[in-house]
Amino acid sequence: MEVIVLGSGVYSGIPKPLCNCENCLRARKFPSYRRTRFSIYIPKIRALIDPSPDLHHHLEHINEKIEHVFITHAHFDHIGGLPELQIFKHIRLYGHATTLEVAKDMQKRFVGESRWNWEYFPLEFDKWHDLGFKVYHFRVVHQPIEVAGGFILQIRDKKIVITGDTGPEILDDNTTLEEIKGADLLVADMTHKYSIPKAHLGVDDAIKLARIVRAKKTVFAHISHMNYPQEKLEEMVRPYIVARDFMHVDI
Ligand SMILES: [Zn+2]
Ligand SMILES: [Zn+2]
Ligand SMILES: [Zn+2]
Repeated sequence: MEVIVLGSGVYSGIPKPLCNCENCLRARKFPSYRRTRFSIYIPKIRALIDPSPDLHHHLEHINEKIEHVFITHAHFDHIGGLPELQIFKHIRLYGHATTLEVAKDMQKRFVGESRWNWEYFPLEFDKWHDLGFKVYHFRVVHQPIEVAGGFILQIRDKKIVITGDTGPEILDDNTTLEEIKGADLLVADMTHKYSIPKAHLGVDDAIKLARIVRAKKTVFAHISHMNYPQEKLEEMVRPYIVARDFMHVDI
């Protein structure tokens, strides 16, 4: 099964406008270092995880119908592209009830309700849900946002875990760790060089999480321009993988 990282970057993308750090300068010169905002696509079930503000650019490339949309939390870099989905008359949206309230409001304001049959499925945290495939939504700590979570998608015999934005507190959350252990694919936050408590994972804690989960493949994403450059990161995290935009991961 294939999983595609559509966007591998943090809220500002890389290059960040007006920034002249090493990563931003490199990305302006060499487009392969550019990072759009975080988003994942699973072709097998036509599922999008997090409609990023770069969704138009992403959809243009994948050029396939989206049927399922999972939203980890309502920060703009994870939900801002939602109105782009109005090219699809019928989609199913999943996330915590609080997150879906934001999505519904966006549909109302930017898309309209009458002609679009968008269905909303609130997912309770820490429970398995059967949607034709199985989904588990786990809560993470990601302040200041009130409600944020990651997903486990069990699609046939493949278990895909996407942490979304998460603080290092996930390392002490034994209930979640037990559920995500032994995944076929772990896509984890690795925003900064160092963790920010209650907000994001840094390099060391992202590696710690990967070692606990022992997924068959681990991909680190949501990378900030303030993190190390791509090749340095690749060296630091080997055998784990550092995401790039439009990276195809075979599981
Ligand atoms: Zn984010
Ligand atoms: Zn920069
Ligand atoms: Zn966030």
